[in-house]
Amino acid sequence: MSWNIVPECISIIILIIIWVYSRKGSTLPTLKNQLFQSCFFVTFCAMATNIFSTIMIEYLTLFPIWLTEFTTIIYFICTPLMGMFYFFYSASVIYNDNFLKKLILYTSIPAIAYVLLVICNPITNSLFDITQTYGYVRGSLIPVTYIIFYIYCLASLFIVIINRKKVDYQIYKILTTFPLIAGIVIIIQQIYPSIILSGTAATMALLIIYLHLQNRQITMDALTNLPNRSELFGMIEILIQNNNQTPFVLMVISLREFRKINELHGQVKGNQFLKLVSEFLCTITDSHNVYRFGGDEFAILIQENTQQTTENILIQLQERMCHSWYIQDCRIHLSTAIGIASYPSSAESAEKLMIAVEFAVMQAKRNPQKDIYYCDLEVMNALKRREKIIQILKDKIADQSFELYYQPIIDMKTEKFLFAESLLRIPDSPLGPLYPNEFIPIAEETGLIVEITYQIIDKVCQFIHRLIEENIEFTSIHINFSASQFNEDALDQKVINIIDKNKIPFSKIKIEFTESTIAKNVDLVTDFTNAMAKKGIRMGLDDFGTGYSNISTVFNIPFGTIKLDKSLIWSAIEHPRSAIIVKNITRAFQDLGLSVVAEGVETPEHIQLIKDCHIDYVQGFYYARPMPQEETIDFFKKHRYAK
Ligand code: C2E
Ligand code: CA
Ligand code: CA
Repeated sequence: MSWNIVPECISIIILIIIWVYSRKGSTLPTLKNQLFQSCFFVTFCAMATNIFSTIMIEYLTLFPIWLTEFTTIIYFICTPLMGMFYFFYSASVIYNDNFLKKLILYTSIPAIAYVLLVICNPITNSLFDITQTYGYVRGSLIPVTYIIFYIYCLASLFIVIINRKKVDYQIYKILTTFPLIAGIVIIIQQIYPSIILSGTAATMALLIIYLHLQNRQITMDALTNLPNRSELFGMIEILIQNNNQTPFVLMVISLREFRKINELHGQVKGNQFLKLVSEFLCTITDSHNVYRFGGDEFAILIQENTQQTTENILIQLQERMCHSWYIQDCRIHLSTAIGIASYPSSAESAEKLMIAVEFAVMQAKRNPQKDIYYCDLEVMNALKRREKIIQILKDKIADQSFELYYQPIIDMKTEKFLFAESLLRIPDSPLGPLYPNEFIPIAEETGLIVEITYQIIDKVCQFIHRLIEENIEFTSIHINFSASQFNEDALDQKVINIIDKNKIPFSKIKIEFTESTIAKNVDLVTDFTNAMAKKGIRMGLDDFGTGYSNISTVFNIPFGTIKLDKSLIWSAIEHPRSAIIVKNITRAFQDLGLSVVAEGVETPEHIQLIKDCHIDYVQGFYYARPMPQEETIDFFKKHRYAK
């Protein structure tokens, strides 16, 4: 019989291309990656020996018979082994390494027995015989080759199906596809034995796996060509598994205020800058140890001589950061915030190590004076406290048990308390009383603030109901909104729904947010405030004078009031020039038709300043501290008839 090896020749070229590309993907020395490479190797051997053996059999006289027989033997060995390695690869996606190793040990027995059968073939001729006279002759046991292959294909299908709940649906689909393809093609090949298709089937299977499970986009960052965060995680897991308590260091470098580069110079230059930084990092340490950790964050794994290497890297990094970076005609100057965690002293698992280092970076980002945070005892205790606070917040969300305090705000003209700001309180928790300055930033970073704010709006609505029932005169109750709130889809509709459900007038609510909130989400905030204004909900700018101030923002958003931050009021007492600023700012806002609120008013001197500056409303301990709902109602009642 003469065979058609064209499909096999084309397939081997495709196989080589995928193989080359696959080697640029994940470089982690995981069993899964090694098995994937083994699949390529056996498939390549099977296809190459198949092509050569077919040619040699066709032109039998041109080659020594032993060489033809040897090539064919290798082909016979490789073909079922292909099935076996694909089975191992499927298992590596599903099972952890320890179980996998045992599985490999037991399930390789049929393949080993088969290999022995092939090795004995020159004596037994049970699979095939090649002679000058008769050429290639099939042996009686040749179906064993296919059976072994089928067994492994079926085993692949079997383990994927029984574990379908454990694996992602996408992975499930991929892993069930390739044994099916292989099986179908082998059946076709048996029907049309002259067309050799086994390699084509294998190449198709490998292509599918490569595209979905092993390609470089999954593991490498396209911009910087560095392995990504999930590769880092995988590498840390491997280090922990293999090295048994051998220390290593994980350093994360965050570029402070990187966002500003994008804003000032555009995203293209921002990307070029990230590339420059990544290239620089690869020069100060072995480039294999550098990872892209996040948008503006890089990670370095330090495995040898950890203390000395860490210091060296830090010195070189800080030295470089003292100088500017140039991208064409742009000069960029940036500083870094660095977190450093060590294994095993900071944490003993990959997951905890990542959490610890992220926390250290966050601390460094918050503190402009301190660039480097080590995950030492202090930081780790702070991290533990933070985790407990997150749990407390989650529990409070679940049982809706947040307490709201209200701080009345006085109208200086009428001396009536016409407003109150709602302020969140956790007076009792397993950690004792917690204060907003600690738990609000955590709620914001974790996104929990979104749900918390919905609950606050609901509670404020119920409070407003009480005030109306009690016949208390008031203009509005204020609710604080954080920047992360604006990442919510359909925020405006959700807010409107809560107020609607409570059937209170929209105008009784004022939303306070800061300029930094606006700066982070200009378009979202503008759209949101316009939607709110349409409904009659009031808007107030909070913390004016805390560094973000930019009067133009005030024009784009329908604010009714501007709240001067307490630091501005306090500084006006100390410095006469600040007092002049407060006075003029107040005038300017009032000329624009806005009312001005002062917060942090504590002393008679503060009151004098307020009067001198003709500020409209006052909030501060001088008049009232934040207090629980019932006390606030009593307070309002008591001051009902003020002047
Ligand atoms: P903020 O919005 O600027 O709130 C005013 C803060 O100033 C409150 O602190 C209030 O107790 C305090 N304060 C008022 N008058 C005086 C005074 O005369 N002297 C002094 N020293 N302080 C005064 P609090 O309640 O600790 O809240 C701190 C920050 O936490 C708030 O600043 C706000 O940014 C945030 N926050 C509080 N409750 C909420 C909330 O429900 N949601 C959101 N998103 N943030 C909240
Ligand atoms: Ca406020
Ligand atoms: Ca404030």
